Amino acid sequence: MGAGRFAPSPSGDLHLGNLRTAILAWLFARSTERAFLIRVEDLDRARAGSEELQLADLAAIGLSWDGDVVRQSERSGHYAGALDELRDREMLYECFCTRRDIAEAASAPHAAPGTYPGTCRNLTGTERAAKRELRPAALRLRTEVGSFAVADQLHGTYTGAVDDFVVLRNDGVPAYNLAVVVDDGLQGIDQVVRGDDLLSSAPRQAYLAQLLGYGIPGYAHVPLALNSHGKRLAKRDGAVTLAQLAALGIDADGARSMILASLGLPTASLDAALDAFEPTSLPTDPWVFTTDPNALGTGKTIGWPS
Ligand code: GLU
Repeated sequence: MGAGRFAPSPSGDLHLGNLRTAILAWLFARSTERAFLIRVEDLDRARAGSEELQLADLAAIGLSWDGDVVRQSERSGHYAGALDELRDREMLYECFCTRRDIAEAASAPHAAPGTYPGTCRNLTGTERAAKRELRPAALRLRTEVGSFAVADQLHGTYTGAVDDFVVLRNDGVPAYNLAVVVDDGLQGIDQVVRGDDLLSSAPRQAYLAQLLGYGIPGYAHVPLALNSHGKRLAKRDGAVTLAQLAALGIDADGARSMILASLGLPTASLDAALDAFEPTSLPTDPWVFTTDPNALGTGKTIGWPS
């Protein structure tokens, strides 16, 4: 049996867009007889108490998951093991570039946008020793391809850039792209459902998964929720977290109904939605979420997709 997952970063309350992605990950997993796992991505940006609130919100909208919640902060040995393997295969190199170095090099005429220009790829031992005196090194993957294709259930075949991306940050923290690949690989996750802001990361991750001998998961990058200005939904947009909605008299069942309605699915329960779930008929446009205060108390729908 394969597995799907939802992998929130505990950096604050989940909002309706995050909860919608969680519901979609659950629907994809359960409709394909997969386990559904929760992994807390707390290597970075973790805020005290946020994990508990996020898990409580997931439970409140009716989601259940298999096994214990896994935390990245407890898995450093796995990341170190993968780094050791890549180091033994001479696939890592030290990079001393600052963001500014990269931005300047990347504006050179032949640089591919958004990719590392390879500045530190071929430093000599003497050059590296000198740079080590100045600042700590990050580790980058010495990639052997320029791009890689992944299969996405909503986007079809997606080919994207694979540069020498960072696998260990210069503060010693495993990079997201390494951690996510190691975790998905070791947790037996063969279905990755997440927001489509991460679509462009999938080729790098799939390439690394292949290098490490893991299967490449199937992907479904789902549309994000946007506010009425077309920007990614955020807590400051108002009634978008369960706590904010509760203050307006909308409980977790009501929030779940709004999300299911936005997906064109039956709203009575998650099980009813699961029975009707059909990935190919999912909306592929962003969910534009309006929170019009004038609609409050008028009996009109609040925050319904426009
Ligand atoms: N932790 C990431 C986020 O909350 C998701 C990573 C993933 O699903 O691969 O945006």
